[in-house]
Amino acid sequence: MKTNPIVVVGAGPVGLMNALYLSRVRKLPVIVIEQQSTVGGLYSSVDTAWGLVDQGVHIPQETGVSAIDDLFFDILPRNEWQILEGTRKDIAGNVFAGRIDFGSLYPDLRRLPREDFLQCAAELFANLSTSRPGFEEVENLRDYFEARFGRFCTETVLEPIVQKIWQQPLERMSPWAAKLVHLARVVTHNADVALTLKMSPALDAVIGFPDQLSVPAEVFSNRRRALYPKRFGLSGVVAGFVRELEREGVRLLTSSDVHGVDINADIISAIHIKDLKSNIIERKEISAVVWTSPIPSLMKLLNLEALPIPDAPLPHRVVHLFLNKPPETGALYWLWSYDPGDCLIRVSIPHAYCSDAARDGVYPLCAEIHVPDAGIDDNATIGLAESQLRMRALIAPDTQVLGGTVISGGRAFFVPTIANCQAMHSQRHAIEMIRPDNLLIATQDLNAGIFYMPDILCAGISQLDTL
Ligand SMILES: Cc1cc2nc3c(=O)[nH]c(=O)nc-3n(C[C@H](O)[C@H](O)[C@H](O)COP(=O)(O)OP(=O)(O)OC[C@H]3O[C@@H](n4cnc5c(N)ncnc54)[C@H](O)[C@@H]3O)c2cc1C
Repeated sequence: MKTNPIVVVGAGPVGLMNALYLSRVRKLPVIVIEQQSTVGGLYSSVDTAWGLVDQGVHIPQETGVSAIDDLFFDILPRNEWQILEGTRKDIAGNVFAGRIDFGSLYPDLRRLPREDFLQCAAELFANLSTSRPGFEEVENLRDYFEARFGRFCTETVLEPIVQKIWQQPLERMSPWAAKLVHLARVVTHNADVALTLKMSPALDAVIGFPDQLSVPAEVFSNRRRALYPKRFGLSGVVAGFVRELEREGVRLLTSSDVHGVDINADIISAIHIKDLKSNIIERKEISAVVWTSPIPSLMKLLNLEALPIPDAPLPHRVVHLFLNKPPETGALYWLWSYDPGDCLIRVSIPHAYCSDAARDGVYPLCAEIHVPDAGIDDNATIGLAESQLRMRALIAPDTQVLGGTVISGGRAFFVPTIANCQAMHSQRHAIEMIRPDNLLIATQDLNAGIFYMPDILCAGISQLDTL
């Protein structure tokens, strides 16, 4: 008997990976449904007058689950990957206390006035404990920071950073926000002393190493690698996914969505696929649904009311600038801007992790910025990004900006307040209460610490094996 297909909804990297796993490893028939006219989600590169660019920094990292990592690695021929490992896996820095930090992505407290540094260090050491509460054991981000770093460091260093990034007081923020911006450690000492201090597990959990390119191999908590194509653009990975899925006979339906579902005896027996160009609806019998796109449209299909997320996302834009010289960012792949006083959030420098990104003497740079004024046009946004980067000396005065582009549609910057995380959790809970047995959800779930792509894939793999 012919088996009905599994439907994967959403063709971002998670949907594509799940579809490949189900078709190649589980040998099951699969259909992928994607609302946009092209597949790839946040992995889609964008074509600009200056060539392809990615949508901000996304350097795929191994998950540690070989069934997933091997499949991913096989998407491109071996010689088309560059493997980033050891100290070169993820070179990330920050702007903090008026300067760029090339050595670590954690804030370096040695930049503070001497008195402030001493007080932060004193509280950090006085608070030392091996049984510090984890993300799920504290009420809010203030409690999380105070338990790790003490009150003074929380108020002097961390609160202004959170205020800049999310414009919310610490009490309103979910502790998981610290995971999103990597605020789980601070730098306090030079490399030799830090190495000695980090021999203590209690200190290792809160102290950052200040010189990432000289980290001894044994300090790495995991040996997972990062992979990026030698040829610039994650669209190469997306094209590889498409090639492999087509080889497995997977149908990829773009400009489509799920218009309705037929549920019988707690099972989704069929879905109604709407072609968004022709408005034609096709009913298809299916064996299971793997949902990888946002939850509210799934709730609508299940006749559940999706209450609005209480704290609105921040208006945010992704700007690409093209320079005639490399920016002043050294070997950094990307950095956070922690300092108040600019609107930069994350800056990425593609030629640092893929030399092919700099072609014909043009160096791309991506700035993800908060732009409160919704009326500001693309030219003004490009000018704003340039002025902020120059102010922070990330672009030298004699470097020319040859051009720029803004990713269309803007990008809402999710604010992980407790209220928002709880609202999202309630949405998932409402679905769980009535979830048909053959519906799997593979999306971000911040309340469970699932945010980055490897988290989502790892959380979903055991479920895929039940289909
Ligand atoms: C600002 C920001 C920065 C991030 N940076 C990183 C990073 O550097 N590294 C990292 O690993 N992660 C990062 N993430 C997390 C990132 O979201 C995930 O890693 C990754 O994109 C998840 O892939 P996905 O396939 O789940 O989602 P997406 O890439 O968003 O794909 C979802 C797909 O579903 C489609 N879709 C939506 N609705 C429907 C519908 N109703 N029907 C059919 N299709 C639909 C969309 O068009 C899209 O193609 C970042 C997230 C944000 C918000």
